[in-house]
Amino acid sequence: MTDLEQLLTVQAHDTQTDQLRHKRATLPERARAAELKVVLGDLARELEVQDATRADLARELKKREDELALLEEKIKKEDATLYGGGVSNPRELQALQDEIAGMKRRVSTIEDAVLELLERLEPVEVEVATLETRRTENSDELARVQAALTVAEAELDVELDAVAAERARAAAGIPDALLAEYTQLRTHGGVGVARLSGNRCEGCHLTMAAAEVERIKRSGPDEVAHCEECGRILVH
Ligand SMILES: [Zn+2]
Repeated sequence: MTDLEQLLTVQAHDTQTDQLRHKRATLPERARAAELKVVLGDLARELEVQDATRADLARELKKREDELALLEEKIKKEDATLYGGGVSNPRELQALQDEIAGMKRRVSTIEDAVLELLERLEPVEVEVATLETRRTENSDELARVQAALTVAEAELDVELDAVAAERARAAAGIPDALLAEYTQLRTHGGVGVARLSGNRCEGCHLTMAAAEVERIKRSGPDEVAHCEECGRILVH
């Protein structure tokens, strides 16, 4: 095989490497993992807000319930005093009854507040539970996607290694200067060498002047020619 034919083989391996690298960089699992991370970030922020609301309401509720317990304890004590027979002065009894009545009104007010707090707390708890479920679902999916991504990357890496080994074998006998020129030409669009097919360069797909094509075809198979249009090395 001539050096130029060999260079075409190198080109084929390089093109394959480019495609594999592109495939590796654009694996759908990578995009999905990125999406899921954004969703999980949003969910975490939303959960933080809802959790703070829930904690505020729960704290308020606890405060009210403690107040209620305290009042009920006090009422029980005053009731015991009232009915215990230890107080006989009518004015004192009246004062005691008034005090108990006042505390009972206060109990009623606090009970209303407790009910209202419970009503406000319920939808927040539902929301927190919903968000937590979504977070679990999304992080489970992320774990699956990341595992699949790791497998897909490893498979492509095996392919890339195999192509690199073949490429090294193909490039072994090619003169350094030719390989260097090819590498330089390949920086534009990934193709540095192309076959001359009839009058057409397969690199840029443009037709060359018949006289130039004739000249190239008459030259030896190892003589390096270039496409007039794109400058790529031509294999003829
Ligand atoms: Zn060309």
